[in-house]
Amino acid sequence: MKNDYILLTPGPLSTSSRVREAMLKDWCTWDDEYNIGVVENIRQTLVQLATQKNHYSAVLMQGSGTASVEATIGSAVGPTDKLLVINNGVYGARIAQIADYLNIPCYNLSLPETTLPDLSEMNAILASEPDITHVAVVHCETTTGILNPIAEITALAKAYQKTVIVDAMSSFGGIPMDIGELDIDFMISSANKCIQGVPGFGFIIAKKEALKRCQGQARSLSLDLYEQWKCMEENHGKWRFTSPTHTVRAFYQALQELKQEGGINVRFMRYHTNQTMLVKGMRDLGFVPLLSDELHSPIITSFHAPSHPAFNFDLFYQQLKQQGFVIYPGKVSHADGFRIGNIGEIFPRDIERFLSAIKHAMYWEKCHEHTESSLISDHSPSF
Ligand SMILES: *Cc1c(COP(=O)(O)O)cnc(C)c1O
Repeated sequence: MKNDYILLTPGPLSTSSRVREAMLKDWCTWDDEYNIGVVENIRQTLVQLATQKNHYSAVLMQGSGTASVEATIGSAVGPTDKLLVINNGVYGARIAQIADYLNIPCYNLSLPETTLPDLSEMNAILASEPDITHVAVVHCETTTGILNPIAEITALAKAYQKTVIVDAMSSFGGIPMDIGELDIDFMISSANKCIQGVPGFGFIIAKKEALKRCQGQARSLSLDLYEQWKCMEENHGKWRFTSPTHTVRAFYQALQELKQEGGINVRFMRYHTNQTMLVKGMRDLGFVPLLSDELHSPIITSFHAPSHPAFNFDLFYQQLKQQGFVIYPGKVSHADGFRIGNIGEIFPRDIERFLSAIKHAMYWEKCHEHTESSLISDHSPSF
């Protein structure tokens, strides 16, 4: 089965045909072949990918990535604890919103979306608010593509002996890091991001001691991180409630393909090449990235909407879709724009084809909305 288009979106993303084919079998959730062979293998592999240290364990959780964030916040933050959220985008804001829903005291450090968090501000808050026990931060803030300095943020939080929760949803598997070296307590990601699986579950890789401390604290039955972990630990990978078997089997295949590709470092290089080619090509076509280059991640890039009156995002989107590429609208509050992801089963040749599709889309648009010959004759007009 061929796809109609490739997804230049940061999850779900384009997967390999072998990942999709892995879903064609039904699996028994009682059977060792599934629990030990697939689930336990996934849990061990995830820990190995996340750290060389051995005091970490992995928990898989049904639902989209947000369910895993909610399970973590709702289980890790105790009844008398308080959370500090470093928030410079939609996903940081979502963590604060989760805390709000769960009636968890929360200091929402809301920061501009297009600059790195000011660590002196975080320091001042930690110094003046001793009741804060947990710090949560997003690694790659998919809103803009900004890569937050999780090493510095974790080090600062640890200087105050705080528990650190990192939403590495869109970066884990695509950017090398050792969460044990960084001393992160809980790291959250999901199946349909850089591991290149299909949607359906998320996962938490956490210190075993930190997981044990979650016992009895969950504010939700199905999102009880400790009970999910305990069930998987005691029953060789058994999920508490119906597991998304097809998705899990596809994820197992995706992990094998990550290994075949050469691991996270090699995948990071591919994503990095994709992103560099994309930004250079887009600049050549007259588009302007939202962030300065040193803030870019190899995951997703935001671009300003061209100010030219002929530019219409919906039309642009449709013209690209017709040519086999799907992009993302922008999410930044103060600027109109769009985002282009370059993770997933995407290779430099796809970026080349995409850039040429953009030329066609713009050209088509120009030809129909403006008849000045100067525009028609120019193959790479600047907006
Ligand atoms: C994708 C993503 C999530 C989770 O989103 P879902 O739609 O629930 O899967 C959370 N945080 C970040 C940074 C993400 O990129």
